[in-house]
Amino acid sequence: MSEVTTVATHCPYCALQCGMNLRPAAGPAPELPVEVVDRPDFPVNRGALCGKGRTAPAVLSSRVRLTEPLVRCPDTGALKPATWEEALAAVADGLRRTRADHGADAVGVFGGGGLTNEKAYTLGKFARLVLGTSQIDYNGRFCMSSAAAAHQRAFGLDRGLPFPLEDIPRTGCVILVGSNLAETMPPALRYLTELKENGGKLIVVDPRRTRTAEQADLHLAPRPGTDLALALGMLHLVVAEGLVDEEFVAERTDGWAAARAGAMAHWPEHVERITGVAVPQVRAAVRMFCEADGGMVLTARGPEQQSKGTDTVGAWINLCLATGRAGRLHSGYGCLTGQGNGQGGREHGQKADQLPGYRKLDDPAARAHVAGVWGVDPESLPGPGRSAYELLDALGGDVKALLLMGSNPVVSAPRAAHVEERIRSLDFLAVADVVLSETAELADVVLPVTQWAEETGTTTNLEGRVLLRRRALTPPPGVRSDLEVLHGLAALLGWEKGFPTDPEEVFDELRRASAGGPADYAGISYRRIEREQGVFWPCPGAGPGEPEHTGTPRLFLDRFATADGRARFVPVVHRAAAEETDDAYPVVLTTGRVVAQYQSGAQTRRVDELNTAAPGAFVELHPRLAERVGVEDGQPVAVVSRRGRAVAPARITTSIRPDTVFMPFHWPGEGRANTLTNPALDPVSRMPEFKVCAVRLERG
Ligand code: SF4
Repeated sequence: MSEVTTVATHCPYCALQCGMNLRPAAGPAPELPVEVVDRPDFPVNRGALCGKGRTAPAVLSSRVRLTEPLVRCPDTGALKPATWEEALAAVADGLRRTRADHGADAVGVFGGGGLTNEKAYTLGKFARLVLGTSQIDYNGRFCMSSAAAAHQRAFGLDRGLPFPLEDIPRTGCVILVGSNLAETMPPALRYLTELKENGGKLIVVDPRRTRTAEQADLHLAPRPGTDLALALGMLHLVVAEGLVDEEFVAERTDGWAAARAGAMAHWPEHVERITGVAVPQVRAAVRMFCEADGGMVLTARGPEQQSKGTDTVGAWINLCLATGRAGRLHSGYGCLTGQGNGQGGREHGQKADQLPGYRKLDDPAARAHVAGVWGVDPESLPGPGRSAYELLDALGGDVKALLLMGSNPVVSAPRAAHVEERIRSLDFLAVADVVLSETAELADVVLPVTQWAEETGTTTNLEGRVLLRRRALTPPPGVRSDLEVLHGLAALLGWEKGFPTDPEEVFDELRRASAGGPADYAGISYRRIEREQGVFWPCPGAGPGEPEHTGTPRLFLDRFATADGRARFVPVVHRAAAEETDDAYPVVLTTGRVVAQYQSGAQTRRVDELNTAAPGAFVELHPRLAERVGVEDGQPVAVVSRRGRAVAPARITTSIRPDTVFMPFHWPGEGRANTLTNPALDPVSRMPEFKVCAVRLERG
């Protein structure tokens, strides 16, 4: 099966995109086709990998790997093996019929933040040109869209981290908000370790005393959904204690007066009542942050996955701006993106409101540029569509057919039982995946596709560093790449040209489409990425005789990306979660991840070693709460919200607030945490409120 010697590539999972080498497995009959070898020269992880990365080859040869298309038999209702010609014809027929009967917007497309840049670009182009639909979005909407929106509002540009990870140990103090790096991307923990070794301070804001929080100099544990108030309380104290960087505010920002007034309305004692964090702790955090030589605030899903996620991130950005910790070397605000291509996946056109290069779909100049690259009339491009949850909620209503790539919403979407029911009500569903995920099980046609080590393509990691995953293996017979799938469907639907199957050819077109846009990739090539261990965007193309642009590891040092170069304070106020606790549902549920599983678990649940380490869901709760419910450690406990009920063993620990329970969301079935979660949406980012809902507990 192997065709090469050692190949330098990247992990298929999270946004750290750790570098690894793959080489043919040794021995006469190796269990796996390739083995992972350290790649210490790649600067982001310097050879370190978590268990998911180390075991990633297991999915390549998994016995549950799909290696032939499946088509649902009309007589028995079961999925049956089919040829590729039969399967693609069935998909084309399903999409064509729906469009003819109900119009182009009756066909939906749902993508994923794990798709390479080439795939995300092609999927968006396919939806808008071949299907003519506006109804496309992707699961990255559930990931970091609130941070992206807040970034845009304040700085005029969204790149997860506007500085490289190597800057973290060089700052004076990091406030890590709602991120558990020890579980989500363990190799990144070394940046915090080095920060402390250099004398820097770490403040962790998390309702749980996680393994990451245990490393902090100061751990603040607010009630879930109240970190906006905490940031306002800190800003109040910054003002009250004369710690505002007046010179920075005057020279590089606008809007301070309104933001200041908002913060001054949040008295520390009031903030203590909202958050549960005592005033002296808030004061200690302010002093630690402001007395340090430089500072950063890094957020992840905690503050972002809320119905006020954009404002919550905005409150933390305001704190950075008021203290002069933005737009300066080794200081700033950054978002720790989650999915493997969470950054690139939102830049190149699979998002409902965007065109390649992070251009806005409703911007006439952007439409004209991209239409020119695609050789079509700008007027023919559809407008913005629905956001991810709104699209899933519309299935079976006015959206009657769905093409889904790289996502498993039956497990990962909020209010998952309802989403599952909506998916079941579709007239037609086609899913491209590597295994029969819980969503693929419901499809009319399942298309088996190649995996990370069997194909070449780029991803953009959480730093905005564009990377190259390289093909190390010949795929098994019977699978095709997503690019080949879209090429084949385009041809069957009458679009003969313009859907290349060679990733480098797609990337060259993406470079042209992105040229001049906010996420400009024009100066990045596969060769440069290989030579330079990745290239940071924006990287405009060079004119004839001009030197190559170096790429941009650090943004905003001279000016922010707004029209006048000044950052914007956005005034924000605390508001409650969409669903507050009451007598019927007196406990707060928050959700997250564990180190041995990834997202919906579609891949990692198929790896024996990972399953042994994390075999199923659990409910983490405080001993006082456990006593009230009458459960002991390991006994089943039922968690009930207004949307449904999930049951999993109790895990009793003092590391969580007594008013809060935690469930990881990687599993289907009765332990499916997303059965419970609330799809209330942030008005700006359209992010659902995964991180806070009201529940009651019962003995399971
Ligand atoms: Fe892969 Fe993320 Fe683990 Fe690195 S931290 S090995 S990128 S899952």
